[in-house]
Amino acid sequence: MNFNIDQTNAESVLDILKKNKFTYSAEIIPPRNGTDFKEVFSSIATLTEGGFDFLSVTHGAGGSLRGGTMPIAFQAQNAYKMTSIAHLTCRGQSKEELENSLIDHHYFGIHNILALRGDPPDGINEKFVKAEGGFEYAHELVDLIAQKNRGEYIKRKGYDDENEFRRGMETRFCIGVAAYPEDPDGNDIEYLRIKKEKGAQFCITQIVLNNDLFFSFFEKVYTLWGNYFPVLPGIRIPTSWKQLSRMHEKFGISVDADLYADMEKNKDSKEAMREVGMSWAREFIEELKIGGVPGVHIFVMGDPDTAVSVRHNQV
Ligand code: FAD
Repeated sequence: MNFNIDQTNAESVLDILKKNKFTYSAEIIPPRNGTDFKEVFSSIATLTEGGFDFLSVTHGAGGSLRGGTMPIAFQAQNAYKMTSIAHLTCRGQSKEELENSLIDHHYFGIHNILALRGDPPDGINEKFVKAEGGFEYAHELVDLIAQKNRGEYIKRKGYDDENEFRRGMETRFCIGVAAYPEDPDGNDIEYLRIKKEKGAQFCITQIVLNNDLFFSFFEKVYTLWGNYFPVLPGIRIPTSWKQLSRMHEKFGISVDADLYADMEKNKDSKEAMREVGMSWAREFIEELKIGGVPGVHIFVMGDPDTAVSVRHNQV
């Protein structure tokens, strides 16, 4: 195997956003541990052929046991030439382990990282508990990544004692973070400012299904940082009543009143509901384009075909 570092020569997400007027990207989830991984690569193939610009691969989202983030991101870039963002969380890792993980990403040519605190493991802890020697907040992970970009590495005990860092090669990580348009405490913009100050370069939002709510958040961020801090709204194309009501009731996601009413009206017909969800997504994307939003990040949840149909305005 002809392996050299940076063999994928993957672009940074910021460069892709700069080059394109509007981008379509997707979030994919690794299969549960112990299940076949063919489906995820088939999704990547569909998204690549469907003209998506880049994708992101989750890491233990929802606290579930799903390894494979790094190899999937690597393979997407290597075999499908699809630039990938690997999600990386603070959960269960000391800062030394996180630095080692960053080196793994660097060797594999995965230069786009979504730096997250991470969900607590399902059913074990309701609250996030920071690992020993690890981080409490995503901004600390952003800081750790930005340090590598400046060539600053954790010191070995007993060495380099007079310096804050050990000097090393500068990486070229492009750092994204999560953002929350539904912000009950009103603090998210301030927390986002801290993440940006530490080195975050773009953000992807939690699922938005409410146009007004997203645009009010977008305006706040745009007023602060303009195009220097791209915001990508995360959307899930609602295709069933069960899925929509679960997002609304279980996860408290605010749903556009018209979308909710139209879905409820059609809840006995699978086809009609899918059509309502897809047409909402298409209209929302048109609004995003007109509103100067740089792109949309679609959470495909094992259904890349719907995402591709929306991208190409097909039924
Ligand atoms: P932070 O920004 O650190 O926020 C964590 C908590 O601390 C929040 O309650 C926040 O309000 C508070 N806070 C933040 N900064 C400060 C501060 N300076 N002072 C005081 N309080 C503060 N989870 C996974 O496990 N794996 C994934 O792959 C994954 N992917 C995601 C992708 C997207 C697009 C989004 C939106 C979320 C994703 N999550 C994922 C979920 C995320 O990890 C959780 O929502 C987590 O609880 C918060 O992560 P964060 O990075 O926003 O953390």
